[in-house]
Amino acid sequence: MINRERIKNLLIELIKIDSLSRQEYDVAMRLKREMEDLGAAVVIDDAGEKVGGNVGNLIASFTGNTPSARPLLLSAHMDTVVPGEGIVPILEGEVLRTDGRTVLGGDDKSGVAIICEAIRILQERKLPYGDIDVVFTICEESGVVGAKCLDIGRLRARTGLVLDSDSVGFLFTRGPGANRLEFRVHGLEAHAGVCPERGISAIQVAAAGIARMKLGRIDHETTANIGVIEGGMAVNIVPNAVLLRGEARSHSPEKLEQQTRHMINCLEEAAARQTLELDGNKFQARIDSKVELDYERMLVSENAPIVQLVYAAGKNLNVNVKTQATGGGCDANIFNQKGLEVANLGTGMRDIHTVHEWLDLKDLYLSGEMVLETLRLNATESWL
Ligand SMILES: [Zn+2]
Repeated sequence: MINRERIKNLLIELIKIDSLSRQEYDVAMRLKREMEDLGAAVVIDDAGEKVGGNVGNLIASFTGNTPSARPLLLSAHMDTVVPGEGIVPILEGEVLRTDGRTVLGGDDKSGVAIICEAIRILQERKLPYGDIDVVFTICEESGVVGAKCLDIGRLRARTGLVLDSDSVGFLFTRGPGANRLEFRVHGLEAHAGVCPERGISAIQVAAAGIARMKLGRIDHETTANIGVIEGGMAVNIVPNAVLLRGEARSHSPEKLEQQTRHMINCLEEAAARQTLELDGNKFQARIDSKVELDYERMLVSENAPIVQLVYAAGKNLNVNVKTQATGGGCDANIFNQKGLEVANLGTGMRDIHTVHEWLDLKDLYLSGEMVLETLRLNATESWL
């Protein structure tokens, strides 16, 4: 049912338009044209100004031909990761890849192309469908900040799909919540050769704290990482400052809190052990901790209508749909956090965030059929 030639050509055209995070203007204008051509009312919101980008989120509202059908959200992100400029897509048989210098950008142009083609087919074949809100977000890859800026009051849909994961038929319904952590370790500087006893090494405090931290995979639903460490000025200065940046994630809000507290405690205890008396004054190493909720967990019920719809679509197409838990975060986390019920369906993208990224067009076509069938079923008798 999907027009394979057309979706392939659109995907390749989109891939060739550079759209790093905060630089999605060109691709947004191309998609605005596509959406208006399909009859949507298009709005570009002010997320671009808020995040320092050159364009906002694109919101396209379609009026369905079956008013009693539940309005659905379809969303994909317009930005791609680095290295992602001047992408040269190479088609070998049915497999799209790059020349090895850049990512392919199938993450998430495959999702974008699927949405465009599915709506085009609904209209061409006069299939039944309800109202559709399409949201093409900016800056998913730079901390889902486009979705964070989106005013969901602009949407009619309260449920739907994000198209931003790999295997066809994989429906991500569970994802961890994440805290973003920043620790500043303060020591005391001194000449390392002349009077090291007058200093407190912030590097040593940081090292002692990190050495005691449980990191990596904590349990089946919790992970933690210290990903960035910066500090020190010269080999002959006892360092007075270290900056650590890390994260904790968990499917359980309690465990997320627990793990975050644990990481702070390890550093504070290490700092408490480093005290110094100098000329009658007491000095102590100290930690400034900053905890920011990056996004809340995603937890869409098996019984949610959107999950049941995708199961039914898979059945009709002989695709084995499986709901999955992911360790990652995406726009769907934010939509759910804002009160929508949104799951993340696979598009066929593979080895993403690497220059080896590739995509089998057969998977793209099948994902397109899945979305089309989901939209169609949503407006059929038994689902109204
Ligand atoms: Zn993505």
